[in-house]
Amino acid sequence: MKSLLINGEWREASSGETLPVVEPSSSKEFGTIGRGSAKDVSDAVDSARAAYTGDWGALPPVERGRLLHRFSERILVGADELANIEARDTGKPMKQARADVTAVARYFEYYGGAADKFHGDTIPYLRNYNVSVIHEPFGVTGHIIPWNYPAQMFGRTLAPSLAVGNATVIKPAEDACQSVLYLAELALQVGFPPGAINVVTGTGAEAGAALAAHPGVGFVAFTGSPEAGIAVQKAAAEHFAPCVLELGGKSPQIVFEDADLEAALPLLVSAILQNAGQTCSAGSRVLIQESIFETVSQRLAERFRQLRVGDPTMDLDCGPLISARQKARVERFLSHAAETQIPLLAQGSYAEGVSPDGYYVPPTLLGPVPRDDLIAREEVFGPVLALLPFRDEDDAVHLANDTDFGLIASIWTRDGRVQQRMTQRLAVGQVFINCYGAGGGVELPFGGVKKSGHGREKGFLAMEEFCTTKTVVNHFG
Ligand code: NAD
Repeated sequence: MKSLLINGEWREASSGETLPVVEPSSSKEFGTIGRGSAKDVSDAVDSARAAYTGDWGALPPVERGRLLHRFSERILVGADELANIEARDTGKPMKQARADVTAVARYFEYYGGAADKFHGDTIPYLRNYNVSVIHEPFGVTGHIIPWNYPAQMFGRTLAPSLAVGNATVIKPAEDACQSVLYLAELALQVGFPPGAINVVTGTGAEAGAALAAHPGVGFVAFTGSPEAGIAVQKAAAEHFAPCVLELGGKSPQIVFEDADLEAALPLLVSAILQNAGQTCSAGSRVLIQESIFETVSQRLAERFRQLRVGDPTMDLDCGPLISARQKARVERFLSHAAETQIPLLAQGSYAEGVSPDGYYVPPTLLGPVPRDDLIAREEVFGPVLALLPFRDEDDAVHLANDTDFGLIASIWTRDGRVQQRMTQRLAVGQVFINCYGAGGGVELPFGGVKKSGHGREKGFLAMEEFCTTKTVVNHFG
């Protein structure tokens, strides 16, 4: 299949090799994509460079913004088709796929509006001097995205970079990229000039590594596993390209004894269940104050027993995982829990008619999970929720920060002083108080600390990430 978009034209991989496209709900193949190589990446970077120095780079910010807006509107016209493509390719329930389509349109709307409002700065300096700080695009940016939210990630990573004037090359994940191809075709239709958006499908080891290593790429945006993130950063360092790395988390939802449980319980469940737990910001640990541990775990267990697993069209609580590999990974964690006698409090059930060949794992509630157990510390990336008790505020902070990750956290308490103190002490990039923001808020800067990565996406800060600055000192005396 012609799945590489270079210089405005769809091509096969130059090697002629392909990779299978597999439906997670049945494990059936339903197409192929090109297996792009370093040669294809090089062609794509050349095409982006030509767009940047040509038509695309010459477009004033107001025109870039209008184009992003047109794209956003066009995405919504094709919303049903795009949601169907995304649901089939990733296995996610239709309601999640529809929400993802709304989100990708929103990214282009938000950054379309921001394109001509992204000002530089002036600095009061010495007598007879004018000093200004101007934003400048890197030229060509490389984008390596994962399989969990391909459509949303397309918007999250490309929209701010295009808004500030870069030309782009995106390497979607080999496990799910159909929505990216659809969106790239729409972008051509609404008038993005050839080369502004290039797509190279293929594996991480080949196309992904080649994109991070290409000296013509001025900035690399990566979302995925910490291991691949390290490889990307090392490759980019060889040619001095900065990176934004978004590498997942082990995000705590912290429930104090005065919490409003009626408000908290549904979100404690949905924060892990969204996208079958395959979400970087999944709330995968619930830390519960000892005095209410029994009550909260019982009430969560009641909810977990009612959860239903099905294929995307059934539109239930949870779909399949993305691949046989991901299913095996999550099952290894569950086997470990059984072997080490971590209590299994509840599991969801399969709907009638679910294919036995799909990559399904039932939502599973475990607890109390020992603090030093790998289920309390490592990213499972599946529908598995770990419950851990804590004594008091100090203990909650210690436990929350006691993993290598630091992406997001939620605090459930009515006490405003606890909210403020906890917020200051949590080592994460986003804090939610009496709410949980997985997947939300295009406006809200997002990213982590420690093993969750560095740099910020979303909001205005993403536009700063995708630019460098130039300080201009003008002496007129
Ligand atoms: P991955 O990190 O290998 O893949 C993510 C993207 O990076 C894909 O496009 C892949 O082709 C590319 N890639 C892989 N190796 C690369 C390299 N050396 N150079 C350049 N690009 C490379 O993730 P995975 O193997 O699909 O999943 C493994 C685990 O990673 C998951 O179980 C989960 O814990 C984590 N993960 C996190 C996120 C997230 O949103 N933070 C997304 C996907 C996976």
